[in-house]
Amino acid sequence: MYDKDLHLNDDLELPINDMVFTMCPYCRGNNLHQDKVAVWFGGEMSPFNDIQVVVDQEGISEGTSQEGNPSSRRDGLLIRFWCETCDNIPSLSISQHKGSTFIQWLTE
Ligand SMILES: [Zn+2]
Repeated sequence: MYDKDLHLNDDLELPINDMVFTMCPYCRGNNLHQDKVAVWFGGEMSPFNDIQVVVDQEGISEGTSQEGNPSSRRDGLLIRFWCETCDNIPSLSISQHKGSTFIQWLTE
C-alpha cells in the first residue's frame, strides 16, 4: 500500500560528491536492490531518433518504442528495485519536461 505522506513536495537538492540512501516508498526500508534499468531518448518533442534500451538479468534489449517512458514527450529513465523488507517493486523515475528534470517514485 502506497503512503502518500512519504512523498516530499519540496525541491530535492542532492549533495555533491556524497551519497544518500534511497528508501523504499512503501516501508521506508533502505535495502533496495536494482533489477532493471530502462532508458528512453527522443520522444515527441525531440529532434533526435527514438531510442529505448532496457538492461536486466535477461540481457540488453534495444528498440525505438517510447512505451513506458516516464516522460510524456522527452527523455526518461526508470530504475526498478525490489525491496528486501516488504517485497514491493517500486521504480525510481527520472524524466524531462520542458527543460526541467523530475525525480519521483512510481509505485504499482
Ligand atoms: Zn519496502
